[in-house]
Amino acid sequence: MAQSHDNYPIAVLFTCKQCKHGRPIAPFSTVQNPVTPEETWLQFLNGFPAWQVPSRPTVVVSPHPDDETLSAGGLIALQRRAQLPVSILAVTDGEAAYRDQPHLGETRAAEQQAAAQALGVAPEQVFRLRLPDSRVSRFEDDLADRIAAHLATGTLLIANWPHDPHPDHEACGRAALRAADRTGASLAFCFFWTWHQNRPDSLAHLPLRRLELSDDLQQRRADALACHRTQLQQSDGEPVLPELLLKPARRNFETYLLHD
Ligand SMILES: [Zn+2]
Repeated sequence: MAQSHDNYPIAVLFTCKQCKHGRPIAPFSTVQNPVTPEETWLQFLNGFPAWQVPSRPTVVVSPHPDDETLSAGGLIALQRRAQLPVSILAVTDGEAAYRDQPHLGETRAAEQQAAAQALGVAPEQVFRLRLPDSRVSRFEDDLADRIAAHLATGTLLIANWPHDPHPDHEACGRAALRAADRTGASLAFCFFWTWHQNRPDSLAHLPLRRLELSDDLQQRRADALACHRTQLQQSDGEPVLPELLLKPARRNFETYLLHD
């Protein structure tokens, strides 16, 4: 389903100077009020069937350090608990999250390594692709090739939905789709900014699945989330991820869209 950026709250529209399309994106550090209350999402998602995650080697595409945890931390911990190999493709180092913060990319990369470890993923299974934060779409062909290099027929591939409203998330979703189609990997999409920028009708009629998370898996995800300190607290102003925006990452389930 095509999706425009018209659903961004007017108050938070601005034009990203780094985006090649120059189209409006939301300045995420100033998102205060999600378009859809968490309670509304919980009601909407309540009716979708459970997903039995395939017991297969798993590759997770993470546009920025923290996305692996925010969108798929429970699934990663589940697969690792079953001793299945899990790789995280760290597409950018998230260096553009705050202005004028030297070494932010290095700090966030280290935070992601710690988060991965909390989820049971060894450091050598986190592959840093080092594409530029907020400009991933310029490298989409290359990204599809690099994702495909990690896949085999039957690999479970997790990536953000191509309409998850952030330009880098969208580019990663499109590249993952191409890589999966080329290799025969099984693809399931995950979400994050959708929960804050969209309304439920944007997901209606899609084959969503719920992954129920045990207390143990929720705790592992919470431990991983706590590793992303630069996103959770700021000495100077509101962090990128205030507690209000973390509610979807604290649900007792995760949501996936299965792609056939
Ligand atoms: Zn992201």
